[in-house]
Amino acid sequence: MTLADYRYNDLIHRCFRCGYCKFPTDWEDVTNCPSYARFRMESYSTGGRLWLIRAWLNDEIPWSDNLAKIVYSCTSCKNCVEKCPHTFNVDIVNMILAAKTEMVDSGKLPKSVKDFLQNVQLHGNPYGLSAKKRADWMEGMDIPAFNGHDYLYYVGCEGSFDTRAQNAARAVAKLLMSAGISVGVLGADEISDGNEVDMLGEEGLLEELASRNIAQFLKMGVKNIITLSPHSYNVFKNRYPEFGGDFKVFHYTQILPDLIKTGKIKTADKSDMRITFHDPCFLGRWNQEYDAPRKIIKAIDGVEFVEMAKNKKAALCCGGGAGNFFTDFLGGSEDSPARIRVREARDVKADILAVACPNCLTMLEDAVKVEGLEDEIKVRDISELFFQDLNE
Ligand code: SF4
Ligand code: SF4
Repeated sequence: MTLADYRYNDLIHRCFRCGYCKFPTDWEDVTNCPSYARFRMESYSTGGRLWLIRAWLNDEIPWSDNLAKIVYSCTSCKNCVEKCPHTFNVDIVNMILAAKTEMVDSGKLPKSVKDFLQNVQLHGNPYGLSAKKRADWMEGMDIPAFNGHDYLYYVGCEGSFDTRAQNAARAVAKLLMSAGISVGVLGADEISDGNEVDMLGEEGLLEELASRNIAQFLKMGVKNIITLSPHSYNVFKNRYPEFGGDFKVFHYTQILPDLIKTGKIKTADKSDMRITFHDPCFLGRWNQEYDAPRKIIKAIDGVEFVEMAKNKKAALCCGGGAGNFFTDFLGGSEDSPARIRVREARDVKADILAVACPNCLTMLEDAVKVEGLEDEIKVRDISELFFQDLNE
């Protein structure tokens, strides 16, 4: 593989490391690219990463584990796409993804990336857990198996397997059922959606997962899908059509506002709570959905909604995207993006840091613990705000 063969050969040289993507408004502020915020080294910035990729493809530097870690520490958050003022900005993340694909094809990957991909290939989830455990989240719940319902509720790997995210999966299911929505689930038959393998550059595995999911959905008569995770929402909406899967896809936060308005679900009283919202990259920057989650929070009785300084398209990524919730290239420092983000929530004196993504939920809740802020801030999925406590 040489630069001449690289898909973005005619573009990658156009990044001249001007740095606007790092320091867009304030030279003191480096918290736009989460990997640059974490390492504060040019090689971990957007421009540095693109230059290293170009040097590697030009045979000016060899592949190394370090180079791979730098490439894989990109969370695909798209903050640089918003901040780079140049016309090629829409392809920045695509260029990094193409470099990841080159690494996948050459078999030269960091161990944690290899483990992630192998686990999905062998077990259908990144954790390497038995596929039979995929339905554990719904144990004791009376939620029907999908059988021609109006909507399929697709839970995804984090909501199915991660014990904290399972609570959000249950909360969304309870809300949909209590509103009388015709909805069913796949339970243990659910298959990984493929968003993260796509963001790790494994195009073959994405195609395999997409084909299997689409075949299953079509066979069962699925037309409309509600997802727990913005990651599933993104891949179903934006990648599945090219594999023949044209479904109507909703993130659950896009369904709830109408259910509130028509009185089909009641919000719990959160009197005197100050709530802020962390935009998930795959709902916000990837799909421009900024309003729906805010509408829901603002409809909750007694809530004072407050924005963090960085919000909507300027929101800082939690650091968990593109498989980083598992590979953890950005962890282990007070400058880990999740820790910076919870300090931003603390700075606006939020009682609750609301999220709408199971990845953000686990990343930010862990960060609150490490920061010692458990008495000050609770991290809650928006769906959990409808209940007085987590186990209700
Ligand atoms: S990605 Fe854009 S803003 Fe960032 S260094 Fe390159 S050219 Fe400059
Ligand atoms: S997508 Fe996010 S993590 Fe990747 S280079 Fe751009 S700002 Fe940095």
